[in-house]
Amino acid sequence: MEEKELKKVDLKIAVASGKGGTGKTFLSTSLFGVLSSDYTDVKLIDCDAEEPNSGIFIQKELLKTKSVTQKVPVINTDNCTYCSKCHDYCAYNAIFILPPSKIIKVIDELCHGCGACSYACEFDAITEKDVEQGIISTYKTNQGRTFIEARMNVGVMSPVNVIKAGLKEAGETGITIYDSPPGTSCPFIQTVTDYDFVILITEPTPFGLNDLKQSVETLKTMDKKYGVVINRAGLGNDEIYNYLKVNKITLLYEIPFDREIASHYSKAEMAINYMPELKECLAQMFVSIIKEYGNSSN
Ligand code: SF4
Ligand code: SF4
Repeated sequence: MEEKELKKVDLKIAVASGKGGTGKTFLSTSLFGVLSSDYTDVKLIDCDAEEPNSGIFIQKELLKTKSVTQKVPVINTDNCTYCSKCHDYCAYNAIFILPPSKIIKVIDELCHGCGACSYACEFDAITEKDVEQGIISTYKTNQGRTFIEARMNVGVMSPVNVIKAGLKEAGETGITIYDSPPGTSCPFIQTVTDYDFVILITEPTPFGLNDLKQSVETLKTMDKKYGVVINRAGLGNDEIYNYLKVNKITLLYEIPFDREIASHYSKAEMAINYMPELKECLAQMFVSIIKEYGNSSN
């Protein structure tokens, strides 16, 4: 791919880790900062909807917010015969019913909005209401790029709908970086389903290796492309390197265990703005990913 074509790629990259605290947000925001200098159409989506914190590191102006809602059933007890059919159809145990006592209640927090109960009810006893699950906030950064934050409301059981709405808001073109939810459960799967490449970030410790293995096994079942960044390189042992070698997994970059990086991070500063060598290394890593996996828009 020629240099001028690099500026016009469409690429979705997820930054993910098997657990929190491995440097996922550091890497996502740093890459976003690096690319914001060179690419006009680059976005960062913070999909860690339970605890989004990428925004702390980004100078930005709020453009708009959007409420994410879900349909939740409402029982009309005047029509209800307490037949229990809605309860039987609900796969999420979101309907509590005690027919002898004529008690029926929808537990909003457990409801997944599937509509099965409405379908099941033969007595026209169920209507629906909108319940807010979270907020999508869209910002313009001081470099004119787009930052989107998906934040779920406290008490909501699953962030999946909020993440989906955040992904939709980002659109399909340009370079999109996803700061994925940690772990390998539904929120992670939802985020990475639509990506072109995933960067797994981990640490060279037994815990880091264990979590990396889980992430790799999950990605293998999804037949997705991925590579690994090791954070705090120099800590721990060599087991993780042996694992990568044996399993022929690409080591994209090692972020050194460096007091200066930690110091900037603790002050919510972007280390790349103070450490040009770090910025250059991340830029090179990104160009190699884009050359391998990007699709030219033209
Ligand atoms: S299916 Fe309808 S009538 Fe039966 S218990 Fe549920 S709401 Fe009531
Ligand atoms: S919409 Fe689905 S999840 Fe919610 S109460 Fe009805 S059946 Fe259960």
